[in-house]
Amino acid sequence: MRPALKAEAKRTTGPLRAGITREEGSFAFGWKWRQSLSDLKVGLLLVLSLCCVRAPMCEAPQRLDVSLQPHGTLRWERGSEPMLLVRPSRGEGWIKLARRLSGTSATARQIRAANPSLREPMRDRSVRVPLTALRADLRIESVRKLFPVDRRTVAGWDHLVMDPFGEGGESWEWIAFVFTGQSSSAGALSLANPDLGEDAPRRAAMVLIPESRLLPVFRSVPPVPTPTPTPVVVHPSRQPTPSPTPGRAHPAGVESGVLSFGRDQKGEFAQYRLRKGEALYSAVVVRFTGELHGEQVNTLALDIAARSGIQDVTSIPVGYRIKIPLELVLPEYLPIDHPRRLEWAQEEKDLARFVEVVRAADLSGVHVILDAGHGGKDTGAIQASMWEAPYAYDVMCRIKVNLERHTRAKVWTIISDSSRGYSIPNQDRLLQDRDQVLLTHPQYRLEDSSTGVHLRWYLANDIIKRQLGPKVPRSKIVFLSVHADSLHPSVRGSMVYVPSRHLRPSSYTVRRRSMSKYEEYRRSPEVKFDSTFAARAEASSRRLAESVLEAIERNEMAVHPYSPIRDRVKRGRHQFVPAVLRYSLAQHAILLECSNLANSEDRALLGSVEWREEYARAVVEGMAAAFENGRSR
Ligand SMILES: [Zn+2]
Repeated sequence: MRPALKAEAKRTTGPLRAGITREEGSFAFGWKWRQSLSDLKVGLLLVLSLCCVRAPMCEAPQRLDVSLQPHGTLRWERGSEPMLLVRPSRGEGWIKLARRLSGTSATARQIRAANPSLREPMRDRSVRVPLTALRADLRIESVRKLFPVDRRTVAGWDHLVMDPFGEGGESWEWIAFVFTGQSSSAGALSLANPDLGEDAPRRAAMVLIPESRLLPVFRSVPPVPTPTPTPVVVHPSRQPTPSPTPGRAHPAGVESGVLSFGRDQKGEFAQYRLRKGEALYSAVVVRFTGELHGEQVNTLALDIAARSGIQDVTSIPVGYRIKIPLELVLPEYLPIDHPRRLEWAQEEKDLARFVEVVRAADLSGVHVILDAGHGGKDTGAIQASMWEAPYAYDVMCRIKVNLERHTRAKVWTIISDSSRGYSIPNQDRLLQDRDQVLLTHPQYRLEDSSTGVHLRWYLANDIIKRQLGPKVPRSKIVFLSVHADSLHPSVRGSMVYVPSRHLRPSSYTVRRRSMSKYEEYRRSPEVKFDSTFAARAEASSRRLAESVLEAIERNEMAVHPYSPIRDRVKRGRHQFVPAVLRYSLAQHAILLECSNLANSEDRALLGSVEWREEYARAVVEGMAAAFENGRSR
């Protein structure tokens, strides 16, 4: 405890504190710009990553502009309070402008002070509105745009240090000012994050702003409902790995109140009280064990029922205490100091260091490689005589068309239907034929699904290596495979698989004589990964997955309610990453399960042309949002 207190004392008297000047309503450090404005030409795409800082062609900018349409542009200059640049409307003076953007006229003086060269707002001149003067919704939206990885948790707010201006651009004072409203809480903030040290937190550090210090405006944001792992972008960092801090509710802790824990003669258990309308399958088994597949869910439900003394699983009274053997419980639901939970939290933190936010307006410069699962002889899942393959293919075609119509992404496909091509028939029920082929050389008619899966990633990697080559950074490559699942019927909605960095080999070659028939295989039979890429790919893929699922939810379509993003498929004791992701060289590689064919509601929706079109649009919207436009001039 003592060193931390010392740090606090040092902070309040040190030279950095003396350098802070507080102007009327705004906040600025008395630092001089060290670089000229010409350094700011970073182009349309700004990759915020450590590797970027090290790369000679990409100097750290001194200013970051992010669009906040339709309101204006957010401008963040090194060391200063972010400002929203807006165009005044006709006849809008300081008071009216304040009312529009702050919801009150009380900030008129503060806004005016932020624009010393303007006596009155003028229609052809941008007015700078300080972040602290913005009304609550705009302020939250602004922070979300600037820090897309941040999230509200029950412990407070997790802030991922982006530091786009190079080392030290986000000091404790700056973070304290933005999130607590007072730069003087810097010391308290540093104390709340003992493993981050007293100097300005490093890029990609995860800073907890404790609930008690968080400004009410941020407290009003509901905490994230499920403990989905931190979305991350990647970052090789030389920071020593911080040791887990037992007893601290960060960054995990989200659901710690849901379960209680105990031990009886049969061993340790977690206890859950069933609520009204909840069923054992979905509310307990799927949620707390992560199991999704029909048979496993049923088996576990029976095991848990027996352990809890339940005779009839179909009529369990509300409030009944259900005992789940502790070894079945997902780590994020375990007691906060349980070794498995600590390990999980540490994993999340480690991954956070690999966060990389890639900004590409309208997906400009982004290459998207599309795949649809199964096809040919392989129908995919079949439920109520509906095949997975043609519907997944249809959704893929719609994603393709929407990407080409509404974004500037370059779209590639690795599968094609020889009769329908990429047309999008306006019909609910699709022809269930076996016409799909993989676009390898020669084409593969998908006779065998295992050969098909391997040829898919060979082909996608061939596009990445040969067609895109070194000119296209991996951070701008997306691989998306569309599927529909067949899970326990109680499960509904979309899910996304991303490649776990722990389940990828360092190299792999398919050893099968039949493969050498294909150019893509012959050119490069072995694929190699280093651990940095694997971590970066997991982080980037998670971030893309989050964005896509958010868009699906925003468009009122179902998303699996518990842990919709998974880094592996789990079937009982068997765990694996689907091969198309496991061996993919795309930095963003996701497998999208649109819906659960075994759920009748999901199945009916997938059988509707309107739903499929809406769904594809939402996916494209989510992809674009993941590469949120940001300009640096
Ligand atoms: Zn599938």
